[in-house]
Order: sequence, then C-alpha cells, then structure tokens
Amino acid sequence: MNKEKQECDTAQLCETCAEAGTCSEKEKQAHEERRLKDRLYHIRHKIMVMSGKGGVGKSTVAVNLATALALDGFRVGILDADIHGPNIPKMLGLELYQLMGTGDGIRPVEFYPNVKVVSIALLSGDSDAPVVWRGPLKHAMIKQFLADVEWGDLDYLIVDLPPGTGDEALSVAHLIENVDGSVVVTTPQEVALLDSRKAVGFSRLLKIKVLGIVENMSGMTCPHCGKEINLFKVGGGETAARNLMVPFLGRIPIDPEVVTMCDQGTPLVLSKPDSAAAKVFFGLSQAVSREMERGEKEKAEQSPVRGGGS
Ligand code: ADP
Repeated sequence: MNKEKQECDTAQLCETCAEAGTCSEKEKQAHEERRLKDRLYHIRHKIMVMSGKGGVGKSTVAVNLATALALDGFRVGILDADIHGPNIPKMLGLELYQLMGTGDGIRPVEFYPNVKVVSIALLSGDSDAPVVWRGPLKHAMIKQFLADVEWGDLDYLIVDLPPGTGDEALSVAHLIENVDGSVVVTTPQEVALLDSRKAVGFSRLLKIKVLGIVENMSGMTCPHCGKEINLFKVGGGETAARNLMVPFLGRIPIDPEVVTMCDQGTPLVLSKPDSAAAKVFFGLSQAVSREMERGEKEKAEQSPVRGGGS
C-alpha cells in the first residue's frame, strides 16, 4: 500500500517505531501533531499560571493550586515550562527524581497526592548548569513535554510559565490551542502591577480567558507584636483586577512558613492547611474549579445534541 495514503496506527514515538525509517519527514510531523492532539484530548482543563515579573510567587501559587486541586480529588499534572529557572521539582521535594523514557514516551514523576510533574530539572544532568537555548529549542522541548509525556487522563494541567510574555508563553498557548484560562500572580507594588497588566493583555491577545489576579506577598503580621506590616503595600492587585475588569482571586500574606515549606519541598496546603495563606490557595483552587465547571456547563448547553431534544 502507498505509504503516503496509509494511516499510522502505532501509538509509539517515531523515534522508537520500527516503521519510522519508511516515513517521510512530513508524515513524521503529522504523527507528532496527532500525538499532541491525542494527549491533550485526555486533559480536561489546561490552566496557565503567569506573572509579569520574576520572584512574585508564581511557582509557589502553581504548586499550591495544583496540590489543592489534587486534595479536592482531581487528577492533576504540573508542566514546569520555565526552561531557564525550573523550580517546581525543588518546591515539591522531587530533586532526586528523574523522568523515565518508555516505549510510549516519557513517564512523569508522581507527587503525592495524585500530581504528575514534568520539568527540565527532572532530566538527568548538572542542575547548576544554565540552559542556554533560543526560542525554537525551547518550543521543541515544550512540545515534547506536552506530546510525549504519558499524562494519561487528567482533570487539570497546570502550566507554570516563566515570568513575562516571551517564547515559552507563546509556545504553550500555540501548542495547546485551547488553554482554558490564565491565573496572573502579582505583588502589590506598582512595578509588579505594571507587568501583570501585560500578562493580562497577553492572555487577551491570545483569546485565553483571564481567570483572575492573585495578589501575593500582600502584607504580613509581625510575629512579635501582631501588627500588620505592608512591606510591598497592599491592595494593588485588587485595584488592577478591578481596572482590568478581571476577577480578583485573593490576597496571600507574606508568611515565612511559605519559604520554609518551599525549601523543604512541601506545599503549604499540605503542611499548614489551616494557615491564612493556605486558605487563600484553597479558595483559589475552588474558584478555578467552579469557573471550569461553569464553562463546561455552558458548552454543554450550547451543544446542538444536548438532552436528546430537537
Ligand atoms: P516566581 O515563580 O514568581 O519566581 P517563587 O514562587 O519562586 O516566585 O517565589 C519566590 C520566593 O518567594 C520563594 O522563596 C518563595 O518561597 C517565596 N514566597 C512566595 N510567596 C510567598 C509568601 N506569600 N510569603 C513568603 N514568601 C513567599
């Protein structure tokens, strides 16, 4: 049979397929595209966590959001799309683990409870060596993380993007095609807010629903006198959300426990679920899942084949 006309029915990677030598580059590309679509089909909701600036707590929010969703019974994956500064494995205590290759792709590392994790930091090698890659290489890596990872059936894929609106954010948005929403993390001071507006603008440009803004490092309670200290001011994220007409998803206080738990590799929602900061993370996960449910219901209602009616 003419190979051009023959459908590839192997679920294998082209690299490990015995037939690969007989396929043209165009066919291989088509197989890759199909693998990507197949993998994404099994993931109900894809959420990007973004920030305009680095160091505002984006990865902290991503791991706590993912873990809170998992504690609510959802099957969750975290894709660490921060190729140059991948922190997710450290924040989940997974630095000693590695991604494993199988005939069908890459097996993600599992974090309790029910969270699958993929990050460039989980590839073997020198963790101190900088990744010096240009856009196309990063795009290829992110594509592989989406198409070749055995994500299985997931309710949520949380994508932790690097700060800003550069190559990785564009790659994720283009490869996934139908990202369900973005969560923008900011700190309350003006410079961070300015950049977070760009993250909101980026989402809108790519027609990705902005689920809302989280204001992190928003005030702290002095451990000695109990007085409130507004180190980076307070309320700026909420004002930005109002001005930009997107939901405000909560204010996370500065809490030294967040740093300790990040460094120890345990998300706060697991280690201190009753803390004020953890409660905001739980509220965030509930807001996200509520919004996703609402969206699904809306889609079902708009579907022409609903309820067996006319
Ligand atoms: P980003 O992903 O935006 O670069 P990270 O999530 O890596 O930021 O956070 C940067 C640092 O700030 C980490 O050490 C983290 O533990 C700390 N951090 C984040 N949020 C808080 C908070 N609410 N209170 C105290 N420290 C925090």
